[in-house]
Amino acid sequence: MTEQLLADLRSDTLTRPSSEMRQAMAYAEVGDDVYAEDPTVNALEARVAELFGHEAGLFCPSGSMTNMLGVAALVPRGSELLAESRAHVLRAEVGGHAALAGVTSRTWISPDGTLSADAALALAEPGSGYNQVATGAIAVENTHNFSGGRIADLAELRRLRTLTAERGIRVHMDGARVANAVVASGCSFADQGACADTVSLCLSKGLGAPVGSVLTGDAELIGHARHLRKRYGGGMRQAGILAAAGLYALEHNVDRLAEDHAHAALIAARIAAAVPGTCDPGIVETNIAFISTEGLSVDAVEFARLAAERGVRITPLGAQACRLVTHLDVDTAAAEAAAGVLAELAERTAGA
Ligand SMILES: *Cc1c(COP(=O)(O)O)cnc(C)c1O
Repeated sequence: MTEQLLADLRSDTLTRPSSEMRQAMAYAEVGDDVYAEDPTVNALEARVAELFGHEAGLFCPSGSMTNMLGVAALVPRGSELLAESRAHVLRAEVGGHAALAGVTSRTWISPDGTLSADAALALAEPGSGYNQVATGAIAVENTHNFSGGRIADLAELRRLRTLTAERGIRVHMDGARVANAVVASGCSFADQGACADTVSLCLSKGLGAPVGSVLTGDAELIGHARHLRKRYGGGMRQAGILAAAGLYALEHNVDRLAEDHAHAALIAARIAAAVPGTCDPGIVETNIAFISTEGLSVDAVEFARLAAERGVRITPLGAQACRLVTHLDVDTAAAEAAAGVLAELAERTAGA
């Protein structure tokens, strides 16, 4: 028997636009964005660029596309991108960087998802000699999705920026959830932008817009990316309807990310209190938490199935881990209810 849905914690992409956001979309001023004549798209691109302290922005349908265009603008065909082993750019973009842009990759491993500039730089190669792959760019993910929404330490980001600049290596920030990092750590978007040549920001995650991501960088890089966007089939026409949702999200939904963080912390604390070791509240820094099923009598798929039966949807990621993500459509009552269900389920399956 399936109970009523209490909370859908599979992803923060599941948010639906509010009626206020829909109003903003309905009345957006529009034009043909392939001619760069959509005033709302232009306003969004300028707004996000300004936030990060970059010269220009480019609105795209998805974060996969802004990541691919950012990396393609920075890394020549046949050169490489370095990233952490579980980075979204390498694990969850269907090989697009290799398949479309001819970019190869190598990875460093950060078991806990924190950023180490030294680990990244240890792999970097200038590409001397006729048979070596040159490192074009390093990708950093902030926050780091598959390690539980970990924040990249700003001092490490700055160190990476300085050391890569000395070696002629560019930096791309997959900032799908960088707004979460900004709100949780109290730094500014400009602090983040100063640490990268290109930044990709998702509007359709915790910010609650239905569609879209923005890539920022200097005018030349973004000009190149704009050209590639058309080649990849990402040129949109009256896209101001979508950009209006993004502008609305930046205006209204950034500061409230703190609520999502509090909800994730609350859920993690309840699960950890029920069965120590299944969840570590100490590493829940933003809106993502992982539940380990290693000490339980069920695996991740079964744990997620049992949770869904009780009205809480989470995502099994790997054999022994489930991910939960809090967001705009999960209020405190829903977070409390989900915490109760997951804690009780952990207890039941621990005892079995
Ligand atoms: C969601 C996400 C993206 C972009 O995903 P799309 O579904 O293509 O918008 C990129 N990086 C990270 C870390 C993400 O979580």
